[in-house]
Amino acid sequence: MSLPEKQWAQVVEKKGGPPVYKEIPVPKPAADEILVKIRYTGVCHTDLHAMNGDWPLPLKMPLVGGHEGAGIVVAKGDLVKEFEIGDQAGIKWINGTDLSCEFCQQAEEPLCPNAQLSGYTVDGTFQQYAIGKAAIASKIPEGVALDAVAPILCAGLTVYKGLKESGARPGQTVAIVGAGGGLGSLAQQYAKAMGLRVVAIDGGDEKKAMCDSLGAEAYIDFFTSKDVVADVKAATPEGLGAHAVLLLAVSEKPFQQATEYVRSRGTIVAIGLPQGAFLKASVFNTVVRMINIKGSYVGTRQDAVEAIDFFARGLIKAPYKIAPLKDLPKIFEMMQQGKIAGRYVLDVPQ
Ligand code: NAD
Ligand code: ZN
Repeated sequence: MSLPEKQWAQVVEKKGGPPVYKEIPVPKPAADEILVKIRYTGVCHTDLHAMNGDWPLPLKMPLVGGHEGAGIVVAKGDLVKEFEIGDQAGIKWINGTDLSCEFCQQAEEPLCPNAQLSGYTVDGTFQQYAIGKAAIASKIPEGVALDAVAPILCAGLTVYKGLKESGARPGQTVAIVGAGGGLGSLAQQYAKAMGLRVVAIDGGDEKKAMCDSLGAEAYIDFFTSKDVVADVKAATPEGLGAHAVLLLAVSEKPFQQATEYVRSRGTIVAIGLPQGAFLKASVFNTVVRMINIKGSYVGTRQDAVEAIDFFARGLIKAPYKIAPLKDLPKIFEMMQQGKIAGRYVLDVPQ
């Protein structure tokens, strides 16, 4: 197959952006890499954090962001056995790892100290052709729609892993903080598929309507609630609090609040990454109520196989809107203002 020399991409040229829609060279895959012609790519809040330089982690610049890229393999290196040309493939946040460190040996690839991150340390999927290490890229079964599966590659995977890390069992209640966002909408669907009951926390009527339609048993509006802690507890069995809390919000306050409404013996899973934020918990409360507080970071290759499988079996249906790749700056603006219910997926010109 002959590939073009140039392609369209959204390029962040300086910290703070905005991304510039321009032509850049098509990259060439190394021996262990695939080149994926991206069909659809989701927009994650992480892409906005990256552009704004929110985190204490060095960033490639200029940068093509994006890490929920779904498309077709159009070229591959000589060593690649995992994919054939024409296969559906997904490029995730973890683009490649050394596969030889202690963490990789234990199948904890996200913890690899030499991990390359799509749309952060290497160019990502806001372009027509993107590179991924074949050993890490995800297989997307034939027949699975590439637009709807794109958000599974980060948002779906991350919340599926977070729910597993919470240890919540079928029938128990999980409070999802930031339930109206990209991760939150998918978290509600995975929770339901895993037999969990959902208390959704977010702000505004549009997100309420979405959470209601996704099957949340209660919606607590942090814009209007006079006492979020009391309202969450009241929405849980016997008013004793949530068995698990998934913190997906992009603001620090709920990270300070969650210990007050988690149930005794319950688990708080921090996933959202608000800039400069800290977790704070009363030692007394944590000890005498035996509260577990932990972090969860994307997921392993096997977690991705499982998350995609839930989706492929029709169990995960979260709302998303489609916009052309050139509209990325507008979507970042809406995201900054907290105005997106669910996920935006970019349609990449073919
Ligand atoms: P998003 O903007 O789509 O959603 C965030 C939601 O949080 C919004 O709906 C917003 O209204 C809500 N929110 C803000 N303040 C709140 C509060 N006080 N209470 C309740 N809800 C509140 O973002 P997203 O794409 O879903 O990403 C969420 C976060 O997760 C980001 O920080 C992102 O970087 C992070 N993330 C982490 C991982 C990981 O592996 N740990 C993976 C992907 C994304
Ligand atoms: Zn992401």
